[in-house]
This record gives sequence, C-alpha cells and structure tokens, in this order.
Amino acid sequence: MQTYPQELQNALAFLKEHDDFLIVSHVQPDGDAVSSTLAVGWLLSCLGKNYVMVNEGPIPRRMSYLWHSDQVLDLSKNPLDTKYRNVICVDCADFQRVGKTQQDFSEDARILNIDHHPTNDGYGEVQLIVPEAAATAEILLDLIEYAEIPLTTDIATALYTGLLTDTGGFRYSNTSPKVMAQASRLLGFGVDGPGLSELLLEQITYPQLQILTKALTKLQMSEDGLISWVSITPEDMAETGAINEDLEGIVNYPRNVQGVEVGMLFKVIHDNAVKVSMRSAGKVDVAAICHSFGGGGHVRAAGARIEGQLEEIIQLVVERVKEQL
Ligand code: AMP
Ligand code: MN
Ligand code: MN
Repeated sequence: MQTYPQELQNALAFLKEHDDFLIVSHVQPDGDAVSSTLAVGWLLSCLGKNYVMVNEGPIPRRMSYLWHSDQVLDLSKNPLDTKYRNVICVDCADFQRVGKTQQDFSEDARILNIDHHPTNDGYGEVQLIVPEAAATAEILLDLIEYAEIPLTTDIATALYTGLLTDTGGFRYSNTSPKVMAQASRLLGFGVDGPGLSELLLEQITYPQLQILTKALTKLQMSEDGLISWVSITPEDMAETGAINEDLEGIVNYPRNVQGVEVGMLFKVIHDNAVKVSMRSAGKVDVAAICHSFGGGGHVRAAGARIEGQLEEIIQLVVERVKEQL
C-alpha cells in the first residue's frame, strides 16, 4: 500500500483523462531525469496514449542503453512545430528548470508536476510531489504499481537507473528501506545491477579524468577546513574536450575531504553566469542556501545558477555557507 494514494490517484486520473502529452525534465538531465522521462512515456504507452518526450539538450551518452532514450528529442536540434496543452514535468523543482522546453507549452497548458525536491514550489495543475522519495523514479514505481501495470525488464532498468544515480549507488542518506525494497523488486525483473553500477558510477571517460585533474589542482579550502571547493572554466572544458556530463561526481571530491562540511563545484557558464553545485555532510542545509540564490535541491545536494563573475560568486557563496556553520 502506498502512503500517498490520493496524490497517485490524482496523477493517474490526469494521465487517463487527457491525451497527446509532452513529457519534459530539467536542463542537463541526470540519471533520474532521463529515467523518469522514459518511465512516464512507457506508462502512457501502456495506457494507449500519445506523447512526445523532450529535453532542452541532449541526454548523457552513457544512458543510451535506456529504453527509447533515442526518442527523447533534443530541443536544441529538433524544435517542435506544435505546442502542447498536456504537460508532465518530472524531477523539476521549479518551472524554470524545464528550460527552453517551455516554448512548447501552450498558453493554457495544464501541468502534472512529479518531483521529489523539498524546494518544489508546487507549480502546475496537479502535483505528485514526495520530498521523502530518494528519486523521482521511486515515485514513478509507486505510480506504475498503483496503476497495476506489470513491469518489463526495460522499464525496471530505467527505474533502477534513477534510484542508483540519485542515491549515489545506494550510499547517500536518502537510501531508505523503501528504496532498497524497490531496488530488490526491480532486480527481480532482470535488471543488471552490477552492470549499471559499473557503467554509471565506475567507468570514466578520458576527458572526464582530465577535467577532474584540472579541477583538483584548483581545490581550495577555507581556513577552518569546513568548506572546500573547485572551479571549472570554459577554457578547462575546451582544453580537455570535456562535456557537461563529464562533470558529474567532481563535486564529491571537495565534499569527501575529511572534516569538510560543504563541498562545492563552481562551473563558469559564460562571462557573467556560474552554476554552483553544493554537497553537504549533513550539518548545513544546502537546498536552503541554493534556494536563496534562486536554485534549489535537497538538504545534502543542491544547485543554483548565479549571475556574476566567478571570483565574486565564490566569495559570496563561501560567506553564505560560513554563516550557516
Ligand atoms: P547538481 O549539483 O546539479 O548535481 O544538483 C544537485 C541537486 O540540486 C539535484 O537534485 C538538482 O535537481 C538540484 N538542482 C540543481 N540546480 C538547481 C537549480 N538551478 N534549481 C533547482 N534545483 C537545482
Ligand atoms: Mn535530477
Ligand atoms: Mn531526482
């Protein structure tokens, strides 16, 4: 029995009542975003509905094994010619996280908001927001089971991918007994758990190793050793041939230094904008800090995009973290 049957019922009613859906997730999608997009697509196909899956940009190459991942349209290459009235947003803490895909929403769009970020602001007509969930994939497994639709290995693999990546390989504090029970059920459908861990958490590309090396040479620590950070510039990206998905996991290095409470990665987007990723050892609520900068996330993992020059932003954010320590 699910603990939020009313929300599940409302979400399922939304899917059953309407047709011709647009499914979107957040910019620079992670494993949970991609998997959740596909899981909703699969659920709609089981319900006999039409849908299109889009993202503002490409999905990470190493996720190409996922069921129908090649059908998630990269909006930067394939602009859509119609606008959609029925929209499902997955893993997006606020409306702006959908990025440029919002161009494909009709003015009177009704949105189903499925997410697990505590900072979710409750946008949309129908909400399925479960802050206790480790991943949006966890909520979608609940929804699929609530709808009594039998899983296939393909879709179990996608859901497992979302759980695996958002829990850092079932190691972060969001790895609840429920997550492990779900993972166990998914393995029962033939998911290759060790293979996915190897591919998604162990393997690194050569550019990924090079950009990590560059970042680590710039690692800085606050005097008290409680805050540590690295930064990456467009020049670093160009010199190493790294792409955005190669930055996944770098923020864990400053965060994992013994004694550090908050680890950060500052990625220069362009002349006047920086993306900050923050990870907390537990004492500091980094979601609150990122939220104060217009971003969001979870207590121990959050992000924000901040306008300004790298050095001034580092100073500003480090000061804000110090206030919270
Ligand atoms: P990241 O540092 O990009 O890996 O993100 C860490 C967590 O914070 C993830 O759950 C993201 O979905 C969330 N997050 C990152 N950037 C933002 C943002 N600009 N607004 C809201 N949530 C974000
Ligand atoms: Mn995500
Ligand atoms: Mn997520």
